[in-house]
Order: sequence, then structure tokens, then C-alpha cells
Amino acid sequence: AQDRRRRKNGPAKLTFAEIGGQESAKQELIEALDFMVRYEEITKFGIRPIKGILLTGPPGTGKTLLAKAAAQYTNSVFVAASGSEFVEMYVGVGASRIRDLFKDARTRAAKENKESAVIFIDEIDVIGGKREGGQQREYDQTLNQLLTEMDGIYTSDTPRILLIAATNRKEMLDNALLRPGRFDRHIQVDLPDKRGRGHILQLHAQNKPLAEHVDLEKVAEETYGFSGAQLESVMNEAAIYAMRESEELITQLHLSLAIDKVMLGEKTDRESTV
Ligand code: ATP
Repeated sequence: AQDRRRRKNGPAKLTFAEIGGQESAKQELIEALDFMVRYEEITKFGIRPIKGILLTGPPGTGKTLLAKAAAQYTNSVFVAASGSEFVEMYVGVGASRIRDLFKDARTRAAKENKESAVIFIDEIDVIGGKREGGQQREYDQTLNQLLTEMDGIYTSDTPRILLIAATNRKEMLDNALLRPGRFDRHIQVDLPDKRGRGHILQLHAQNKPLAEHVDLEKVAEETYGFSGAQLESVMNEAAIYAMRESEELITQLHLSLAIDKVMLGEKTDRESTV
């Protein structure tokens, strides 16, 4: 989990232009961000501020990229965590980690002279799952702490916190998180359509030597159902095939082989988990 956090924290220098497809998700996110940063203006109108944005959709569709771009767009520091980091054997540890996460974000923003911090929590369902029938779980305290932090987001001035969370399983989330005043902006991040796939392939082809005849539109056509992460793999695997054959350029054949490999890889992954 620590590794993942380090990886995802990384430099947040990523703009919306570097995210392929996802046009409506990008637009909705930008609208929500514009709204969140105009805090003074909206409170003058008595508008209730949104405290968090929830990104929902299948794995590998660019939710983390969107959160990073949101940090760049709002000139914020980017602090990332995954829900699984907060699940602990010992009661109270998860809650104190949540507290630290928010504290860490504020400290980093102050240190870097930024007015805001984007906190990104991936796999929010791990801590924010439904609490059924009043049943207490050992990590209820963690969720309660998150709710407390969310409630406090606008009571302290700068640095302002923008909370973005992601899940593949929105239906699992506890109602406390879905109530107005919590994550009340939900943005769907779906698998890309053909046009989106073409865009993503183009972005990942930028640093690769493609043969002139290569038709990325055809690749987009043949990769129905692929996520952005899988398309990135296709480009990468194609480059590996080309290099292995000591060729200077990536050809359409390398791309076809790569599509098969990524598709097959997914299947074996799935079979081994069944
Ligand atoms: P998870 O739910 O598994 O955390 P995610 O939706 O957060 O997935 P990302 O971590 O944002 O997915 O994407 C993983 C990688 O896939 C990215 O680093 C990038 O290389 C590639 N990728 C995914 N979506 C896109 C996209 N829309 N445009 C460009 N690259 C993408």
C-alpha cells in the first residue's frame, strides 16, 4: 500500500489534455472544480458548497489521472491514498491515518505555498461500504473520521481541501457518503468509445516510433471494451515486439499481436481468480 501511495503521489504535473477521451467526465469535473474554488462567491449566494467529488467507473479508465489533472488545474498539491491503507486490525488506527492524511495535505500545501490541496482516495468503498442493520465494524471509526474531516473542510480557511474519491462499486457505498453535502457530485468515468480509444492510443504513441502505414483508428476499432490502461499496454507491448525483432519501427502486425496478448492476459487473469 505504501508503494502504491508513493507511486500515485508522484509529481502531479498532468493536464486534462493528456487524458484521452472521457470528454464528458472532464467537462463535468472542470465545472465542479470551478464551482468549488469560487467558495466565497457561492457562499454569498447562500449556495451549499460541495465537499467532495466521486468518480465512478471500471478500473483503468483514468480516474487517478483525472484527480491529478484536477490538482494541476486548481494549482493544488496532490495527495493520494487508497481505501485499503486505512483498514487495520487495531481499532482507531484507520481513523488516525485519515486525520494524518488531511493534516499532511494542509501541511504540504502550506509548505509549497499553495492555496489548496487535492486529496484523492482511491477504492473509497473499502472504508465507505454500507453499514447494515446498525452493525458495528472495526473500521466504522475510520468512516466516521472521514465524515468528520469532510464536515470540517470549509470551517478552516486556507489551504482549502478538494476531496476526490474513486470507486468501481458505487452501489456499495454507505448512504452517509452519498447524502447532500458530502460526495454530492458524481462523475461517471466509463470505458472509452472508439473515438476515445483512438485518442488514448495517439497519446501513448507519441513517444514511440510508428511505421508510416500504422492505422491507429483500426486499432481503436479492434479494441472494443478495452480500458485506457489496457490501451497503454497495447502500445507498450507492440513496442516490445518491435524491439525484440530488432526492428526500428512499430508495425500494424506488432499492434495486432499486442492486442491479442493484452486480451489473452486479461482472460488468464480472470481464469486464475475464478
Ligand atoms: P483504478 O480504478 O484501477 O485505480 P484508474 O481509473 O484510476 O484505475 P488510472 O490509474 O488513472 O486508472 O489509469 C492507469 C493508466 O492507464 C494510466 O497511468 C494511463 O497510462 C492509462 N490510462 C487510463 N485511462 C487513460 C486515459 N483516459 N487517457 C490516457 N491514458 C489512460
